[in-house]
Formats: sequence, structure tokens, C-alpha cells
Amino acid sequence: MKTGCEQCRNGVLSGMYSPETAARQGRPVAPPSFIYSSVAARAHLYRCQICDAWWEFYAREGHVIAEDEAKTTFAEYFGKLKQAHR
Ligand SMILES: [Zn+2]
Repeated sequence: MKTGCEQCRNGVLSGMYSPETAARQGRPVAPPSFIYSSVAARAHLYRCQICDAWWEFYAREGHVIAEDEAKTTFAEYFGKLKQAHR
């Protein structure tokens, strides 16, 4: 399982992973970039543009998760993705 690269870990530690924050400050979006919010899980899915690690964020913390875990927690997102490819 991937644990993230230096760039996305730094991005997370800097607290600058929010695209809204980056846009407001006129900065490029630091990895990991936002993918999807699950209302049901109250979690947000992010993915590093550099190392492809999946990140799961809650209100106060985030961590790298396996793709299987991402597909379970964010089933709606992956379900939509599958439909879009049909
Ligand atoms: Zn990374």
C-alpha cells in the first residue's frame, strides 16, 4: 500500500490541501488534490497528482488509504465513475 510521497505529505502537513484555500491565495493546488466529498462517510477523498496515493480526510485529520478502502468509503464516487465509463 502506498504511503504517499514527500510532496503530498508536505502538502497535508502545510494544511494547504484545500483547493479553495489555494485559489484564494493565488497558489497552485498542492498535492494531494481534492477528488470527492462523501456526505454519508463525512469524509473527503483526495489523491496525490504525483504518486497516485489516495488520501482520506476528516474534519481534523487525513491519512493515506488503500484503493480498496477508498472504493468502500467513497462507493458513490466510484459508482459514478463506473457509470460514466459505460
Ligand atoms: Zn504523493
